[in-house]
Amino acid sequence: MTTIEGNLQGLRERIARACAQAGREVEEVSLLAVSKTFGPDAVRQAQAAGQRSFGENYVQEGVEKILALRESAALQGDLIEWHCIGPVQSNKTRLVATHFDWMQSVDRLKIAQRLSEQRPEDMPPLQVCLQVNVDGGLTKSGVAPNALLPLAEAVAALPRLRLRGLMCIPEPAEGFEAQQALFLQARGLFERLNDDGFALDTLSMGMSDDLEAAVAAGSTMVRVGRAVFGGRPGKVTSPA
Ligand SMILES: *Cc1c(COP(=O)(O)O)cnc(C)c1O
Repeated sequence: MTTIEGNLQGLRERIARACAQAGREVEEVSLLAVSKTFGPDAVRQAQAAGQRSFGENYVQEGVEKILALRESAALQGDLIEWHCIGPVQSNKTRLVATHFDWMQSVDRLKIAQRLSEQRPEDMPPLQVCLQVNVDGGLTKSGVAPNALLPLAEAVAALPRLRLRGLMCIPEPAEGFEAQQALFLQARGLFERLNDDGFALDTLSMGMSDDLEAAVAAGSTMVRVGRAVFGGRPGKVTSPA
């Protein structure tokens, strides 16, 4: 068994335990393997172990991996689903629209409009989540909760996008309850939108260190990198 295969197995058990603890069915929570900084081989190994959905933060790096894997994936007849989960500048939207299946970090209408205009006609609509900033972190991306409804209405009206849900990345909080409280804010916003007539089915939250709290708060998709692929190399610091 490869390390990645073993990690995936351990992670599936961890998610199953978190679901059992929260009184939820394990089928309610899917696993997005975050492959940023890891090469195509790592993705292939995870794929061989049954993983189908992968997340990338950096558009350029993600597209290179998508292209590298497309041919072998098509030969095997099983397609990988690619999610963009990082912030995207206007000049990168076309790369996202032409290569990814999902875009989870939409927080501005302008980006959504470009993605809709640039989504090729021969591809299915781009599946979209709105990134919401639940803890008010000033430097972080994400739409403020009080601006969420108008953004959701505008995005839902775009022809080549399909609004699926919300995504959030709260700051690490001290302890399970505090972390869960942040995730519960996202859950509340998600339910309010559905009460308003949206048919959202995806609440993307929880990572390697906090997935139990996210699952307890209603996450339907955990995004896990290190617990699948191992530690990422530290940030490269520029020479002094
Ligand atoms: C890196 C990243 C993850 C995965 O984080 P890990 O701590 O490696 O599990 C999930 N979501 C986003 C948006 C990320 O950037």
